[in-house]
Amino acid sequence: MMLENRQVKLIDENGIRVDGRRPDELRPVKIEVGVLDNSDGSAYVEMGRTKIYAAVFGPKEVYPKHLEQPDRAILNCRYHMASFSVDERKPLGMTRREIELSKVIRQALETVVFLEEYPRTMIDIFVEVIQADGGTRTAGITAASLALADAGIAMSDLIAGVAVGKVEGRLVLDINDLEDKYGEADMPVAILPRLNSIVLFQLNGRMTLEEVKQALAMAREGINKIYQLQVEALKRRYSVNQIDEGQ
Ligand code: ADP
Repeated sequence: MMLENRQVKLIDENGIRVDGRRPDELRPVKIEVGVLDNSDGSAYVEMGRTKIYAAVFGPKEVYPKHLEQPDRAILNCRYHMASFSVDERKPLGMTRREIELSKVIRQALETVVFLEEYPRTMIDIFVEVIQADGGTRTAGITAASLALADAGIAMSDLIAGVAVGKVEGRLVLDINDLEDKYGEADMPVAILPRLNSIVLFQLNGRMTLEEVKQALAMAREGINKIYQLQVEALKRRYSVNQIDEGQ
């Protein structure tokens, strides 16, 4: 993305960021599961001003038929940003960035879904960015893994993601769009919180190896918090169902 040639102060003399956060602080996180009626599983994730819905359909019959795999399900994933999700309207239709992010998210999700449990089927995952303010790929993965769980699809773990950035020489957790645009580096990470493995790791910009290690530790801390909220959201969904069934 083009950087405008203007000075933006991203951290003040007290170490406080443009939106009032400390360097190691997440934005306010809101997570809900089972939010859409017309899907088999769904979730909503809000990280500050970034707002994302994920919807899952399937496992279902493969279309077109020739793509069917005799021994496993195929995952299809579409990451899409609403044209009104950013200040300047994004062009309608899928951009190259959205096609790339669809693949990145699918590859992360493929590591946790027990695809061999669902031979000759496909599972469609839609990640819809309603409002974008940085960190949409990571929040998209967080939401998509919950939507898969909500659809009852067998998985080895949930996935939670967050982006760490480097702004004015300091590492900061869960960067917003301004920090992404004017910072020196951004590092989106997604982790399997229980199994403790990394399923997405990207770095744009420049960090030392030591900074990468610190950034990863920072991401891990943030992801632990997001994971707690994922679990709580699933539990809330489960207890609501219990009440519904009792009526
Ligand atoms: P991520 O959203 O995963 O951080 P990027 O680093 O590509 O992915 O994008 C950073 C942020 O830039 C997005 O979250 C969004 O706020 C903004 N952005 C992305 N694409 C556009 C676009 N076409 N127009 C305006 N802003 C955009």
